[in-house]
Amino acid sequence: MLAAEAAGCTRCPLAATRTQVVFGVGDPDADLMFVGEAPGRDEDLQGEPFVGRSGQLLDRLLAEELGLERSAVYIANVVKCRPPDNRDPRPEEIASCRPYLEAQVELIAPTVVVTLGNFATKLLLDTDQGITKLRGRAYPLGDGHLVPTFHPAAALRGGGVVLAQMRADLVRAKLLVGA
Ligand code: URA
Repeated sequence: MLAAEAAGCTRCPLAATRTQVVFGVGDPDADLMFVGEAPGRDEDLQGEPFVGRSGQLLDRLLAEELGLERSAVYIANVVKCRPPDNRDPRPEEIASCRPYLEAQVELIAPTVVVTLGNFATKLLLDTDQGITKLRGRAYPLGDGHLVPTFHPAAALRGGGVVLAQMRADLVRAKLLVGA
């Protein structure tokens, strides 16, 4: 199994400093998948994506805008191991980890992938453009759609406007899932 293979992964230097691989969580048959950046401290300790402050906001938005619990969707990250001191993942780390994310998207085959922030959006849309430019619409992804939105950490920092835009993006995702 892919998760078991990833659990022992040594493809990049993050293997040396992680507590554990944070592969992904949720329903492997989900119609809706979320992709974040990389595990932080809480995620590295608990082995589950988005369990810290960003995750609490994500859970709240899922409940309020989609009426869903996290167990009804699938949640993963671009990079499966925590970068030390929460630094940005490096290009070679993203490249090493990319096949895992691509396999997850292929196996889960969600109708809609919501990318949270720059790293996931740039990787899955294969673009250098930033999230502020890209969000506000949906893009084709395989047989489904990709809806880019801000990372919840940006909403925690940026406040009301960012949060309102995230809510609008989630409504966009909801409509596409139902379509
Ligand atoms: N931020 C992310 O991008 N992913 C997590 O799992 C937690 C915080």
